[in-house]
Amino acid sequence: MKFIDTRGLDSSRPSFSEVLLRGIADGGGLYLPETLPYFSDFKQLDALRSSNYAERGAYIYNAFNIDIEANDTLRMMQKAYGNQFDDHRIAPVVSLDANTHMLELWHGPTSAFKDMALQCMPRFFSFSIKRGLASGSLSRDLLILVATSGDTGSAALAGFAHRSHTNLIVFYPDGGVSDVQRTQMTSSLGTNVGVYGVKGNFDDCQRAVKEAFFNEDLQAWLREHTNLQLSSANSINWGRLMPQIIYYFSAIIDLRAAGKLTDGQLLDIAVPTGNFGNIMAAWLAKQMGAPIGRLICASNENKVLADFINTGIYDIRDREFHMTASPAMDILVSSNLERLLYYLADAPRVREWMKQLRENGIFEIDAKTLALIQRDFAADYTGNQASLDVIQDCWKHYHYLIEPHTAIALHTAEKHRGDNPMMVVSTAHWAKFGPNVLRGLLNIPYGEDLLAPYNKMTGFELLRAIRRLAPEAAHVPNRLSSLEGAFERYQKVIPASDKDINAQIKDWIESRAY
Ligand SMILES: *Cc1c(COP(=O)(O)O)cnc(C)c1O
Repeated sequence: MKFIDTRGLDSSRPSFSEVLLRGIADGGGLYLPETLPYFSDFKQLDALRSSNYAERGAYIYNAFNIDIEANDTLRMMQKAYGNQFDDHRIAPVVSLDANTHMLELWHGPTSAFKDMALQCMPRFFSFSIKRGLASGSLSRDLLILVATSGDTGSAALAGFAHRSHTNLIVFYPDGGVSDVQRTQMTSSLGTNVGVYGVKGNFDDCQRAVKEAFFNEDLQAWLREHTNLQLSSANSINWGRLMPQIIYYFSAIIDLRAAGKLTDGQLLDIAVPTGNFGNIMAAWLAKQMGAPIGRLICASNENKVLADFINTGIYDIRDREFHMTASPAMDILVSSNLERLLYYLADAPRVREWMKQLRENGIFEIDAKTLALIQRDFAADYTGNQASLDVIQDCWKHYHYLIEPHTAIALHTAEKHRGDNPMMVVSTAHWAKFGPNVLRGLLNIPYGEDLLAPYNKMTGFELLRAIRRLAPEAAHVPNRLSSLEGAFERYQKVIPASDKDINAQIKDWIESRAY
């Protein structure tokens, strides 16, 4: 399998493992496989009913005909989806009623859905570097830089810690992540990782990290003094998208095995959407023959995507950036949308639209492409208060506890429910967003301070309080509760300037004697 790019500017036709290491294509486009595998009869996949998640994953990967041997792929899948998950089904489907199913993507080591990709991708990444070094097509180890608003940093640390030939430095906004998220990151034990707070917000972190990639001095210093080259592992990398296709197939295999989705029936799927990666994977699964009906794109108050799907106009001019209860969806430029536009239009139009977005902050697609998008997608947004209200409704109705991202998907699913069974994608364990789950349960308005006794509690004490209010709720995963009082190895907070970030990168490398 060779890869092409969404802008038609990269003629190098790289393989899967080359695409993994490159991330972005020459000319700024995103990589896609030249063709998608197609399963014309789902019965072929029903044969995987008694296979475990790793075997299902290897089956899907092999169908892409990647440049990695089937036995290596299976071995890595078994490591990626093994007992670091707290449910042997890895991505179980839980039914709230006969036609409402929750796909739980938070059983991994950091209790949020980015583990689904970041337990898998780093293994294939490290494997590809090793092979590249052995064959001489690569001469250096990689240093990955990540700016995070919370979930990505901890999942990347969990995925890349201890991987050979890769190193990872994470920058997070000091005071801008929850106690649980910060401790997940700062207690990381990998010897190949570093974690630093930045005095500023997420945008400041991201800007400074992006700048490092273009900083000539830093690049020259790396070439001269180290064996490292910079890389990113962000969600536009095909290697992060591909693992996400697996769970849609796996869920449908399970639903059909349980008789909850019958032959000829289609499944509608609601996805809480930020960078359009998760829902793009669902669309790819549909193209590959999975019996999927409508995809429901659920946005929060940063609703640029919902507006786009409803109007065909992507407009970020003067759009205010809202802080919300669902921070992982606080995104204005949803990078993976470019992949959908490529499939439903073509590379010349994608080039033009991306140019307009860059230059004017707006683009409008043609009516035919819009009609194609609206055939497959419905979209809507849910405000902060409504997202907290849904947490309470869902608890009362189903005795099932959810957090704000999942609540947005459930709310949007209810609004757009048709005749098909509905699957709602649950992207985080409730315990990762304790304060707002508590507001939902206690009817405390969004943005209002918690009252006594809750205002005096740490993030971990709040989780225990929630469990007293909702005793039937599943327990707090051990790996979250055990973070309480964990030794935070990384305490350093640096200013949000390019100079300080670059100095910290050098410092980290020197302290590791590279
Ligand atoms: C990252 C994330 C999302 C958004 O997923 P995209 O693939 O960026 O659309 C939703 N919910 C949670 C909890 C996340 O961490």
